[in-house]
Amino acid sequence: MPPISERAHRDDVLDDIYASTILRKGLPKDRFPDSSNLPENVFAAVRDELMLDGNSRQNLATFCQTWVDDEIRRLMDLSIDKNMIDKDEYPQTAEIEARCVRMLADLWNSPTPGDTMGCSTTGSSEAAMLGGLAMKWRWRKKRQAEGKSTDKPNMICGPVQICWHKFARYFDVELREIPLEGDRLIMNVEEVLKRVDENTIGVVPTLGVTFTCQYEPVKAVAEALDRLQKETGLDIPIHVDGASGAFLAPFCAPELEWDFRIPRVKSINTSGHKFGLAPLGVGWVVWREKSDLPDELVFNVNYLGGNMPTFALNFSRPGGQIISQYYNFLRLGREGYTHIHSACYDTAEYLAAEIGKMGLFEILFDGDRKAGIPALAWKLKDGAAIGGYTLYDLADRLRSRGWQVPAYSMPANREDLVVQRILVRHGVSRDLAELLLDDIRRAVAWFEQHPVTRPMTAAEATGFNHN
Ligand SMILES: *Cc1c(COP(=O)(O)O)cnc(C)c1O
Repeated sequence: MPPISERAHRDDVLDDIYASTILRKGLPKDRFPDSSNLPENVFAAVRDELMLDGNSRQNLATFCQTWVDDEIRRLMDLSIDKNMIDKDEYPQTAEIEARCVRMLADLWNSPTPGDTMGCSTTGSSEAAMLGGLAMKWRWRKKRQAEGKSTDKPNMICGPVQICWHKFARYFDVELREIPLEGDRLIMNVEEVLKRVDENTIGVVPTLGVTFTCQYEPVKAVAEALDRLQKETGLDIPIHVDGASGAFLAPFCAPELEWDFRIPRVKSINTSGHKFGLAPLGVGWVVWREKSDLPDELVFNVNYLGGNMPTFALNFSRPGGQIISQYYNFLRLGREGYTHIHSACYDTAEYLAAEIGKMGLFEILFDGDRKAGIPALAWKLKDGAAIGGYTLYDLADRLRSRGWQVPAYSMPANREDLVVQRILVRHGVSRDLAELLLDDIRRAVAWFEQHPVTRPMTAAEATGFNHN
């Protein structure tokens, strides 16, 4: 037996992460652990679990940012301890949030960008709840002032993201979602007008519909609502869900009128962590003018040592994403956002052209920057596929090479239509697109050699489609 001091030394030498107790026996999964473990061993164990997650850069389903520069990593590290709600303790972070709101109000052409209301959120979903609540409150106040009933609010939209279904259910609003018809895969003026009445709290067009990536016609709907007001007196506001588009159109389709240039547009939400290029966890909602956000929805928090207005569903919230958003605004400016997003549109158009050339697919949206976001969507041409595969089978085959290219069915009344979609984000380079095209061609050739005897159905498809 060597002396104790030497044995301790040998133990250190023998120390090995994968031979340590926790990694040799397997990690606790169902019971709260009794004992402690060395941080480096636990880190390795958890990091290795994460290897089984998909590679986010090959995830062409998500609209969210998967590439950030090193400066953002450093700012995120510096702000790991900053709580957005402690506006008194972190006044400069609060000031940065306010600057971002003013910059967005300016980008979206608010008549009073220096003085409007808006806030950061955890994403577009929370921002949509706040925008929806403000519409509901404004409608209710008006109805109460007229001595009319306030028990049946409704909201009108096209094929919306799930957050609006949540808003409607959580806050008791009837969702009048316009069904699709034939080749019309978004809202149009006639269908909106069929559904408005005195209980409509607002119309919500989407700038970048989740399913096909198209922009809905905000201006045409606003003009139709202007005519309706002239004829009937009904004054129905618009909230734009610009989760993706509000960070794209101002740069790549500046002449498109969808924002506060239209007086009827009272509020806009967007996701900072999508085409705002910030890390995950930030969204924004901005009102056209201060008076568009009812006072009753704003709380004044004073027990943290100051008196600060807050409007949010969360209390504590990380500040790093907001600081990174500000960094992006300063780093990129209009010039940089235009530069980055145009490259994405070019690649989306290229992919659409190449996939179209394969002869098997009909392109439903081709990445046209005046009409939607940098993305493409297609369906199988009737009878074109040799080998009996569906788009679900194709998605599954691509998954074996690490690509996530979701296939999904459309909402009512086009549930029969199965669509596949690619989002081209910052970091999806032309070379990455070429590699994907090669894999699509290989997958198609595989199915031609190995026909599918039982095509995959929607229920069996596991692909995450972000709807
Ligand atoms: C992504 C998305 C949302 C939800 O946004 P999060 O930031 O993920 O909460 C809402 N609406 C549309 C149109 C979207 O694309």
